[in-house]
Amino acid sequence: MKTEIMGVPFDNVTMDEAISHARELLAGSEPCYCVTPNSEIVYEAMRNPELLSVLRGAAMVLPDGAGVVLASKLLKTPLKEKVAGVDFADRLLALLCEQGGKVYLLGSAPGIAEQAAAKMVEKHPGLQICGMADGYFKDAAPVIEAINASMPDVLFVCLGAPKQEFFMRDHLGEIHAKLMIGLGGSLDSFAGTVKRAPKWMIKLNLEWFYRLLKQPSRLGRMMRLPKFLLAVLLRKDQKHG
Ligand code: UDP
Repeated sequence: MKTEIMGVPFDNVTMDEAISHARELLAGSEPCYCVTPNSEIVYEAMRNPELLSVLRGAAMVLPDGAGVVLASKLLKTPLKEKVAGVDFADRLLALLCEQGGKVYLLGSAPGIAEQAAAKMVEKHPGLQICGMADGYFKDAAPVIEAINASMPDVLFVCLGAPKQEFFMRDHLGEIHAKLMIGLGGSLDSFAGTVKRAPKWMIKLNLEWFYRLLKQPSRLGRMMRLPKFLLAVLLRKDQKHG
């Protein structure tokens, strides 16, 4: 079931349900892409119709952040739970292991995908990572050729938003992976070069605060969260006013 938040049709799913859906998408015949927008990205899509249409064209839209879940509650159409992209990616790796599928890692700075791959295989023994490339290429053609030559089932696209969303939309027909998913800075998290917040902070929905403390340069971007929530409240008042 879809729940629209400021025009973005989120899948109202638990993590387990999201994985079941991924299973179906992997079994289907059409290649597709999935997105994991947080409130910053939804806010950007409210101003960028092209980005909004890319998000609307995704096979699955997962709420990557407490801000999106809070907005869904303010709009009285609550989402079941936050499904963080990095957690979903980890579950997807377990699914690939179970099915004997292959993943290709695209994105982040040179050397990061290799470190992420080592950590992934340590956690999921037997995982087949069929290739990787950093996210700072000028020409997409040779990158796509390498991806296709390695025949992945799943492509992790970690180029940051909105670059990764446009990349997936632009190359949907050319890339032969069954499922592409935009995962922002997830390879940095897997590699351990950017640490995730402690579990208690994640539980209290304070992961954003931890990231702000670690990377104060994100403040400008993060100011989109209160602006986004304000826009949601104004929309709500319009609906009920
Ligand atoms: N990145 C990339 N190519 C680019 C720009 C960014 O591969 O041209 C990577 C960057 O190295 C980082 C990720 O994209 O690993 C973006 O991380 P960020 O934390 O900004 O993304 P978020 O998860 O917040 O969307």
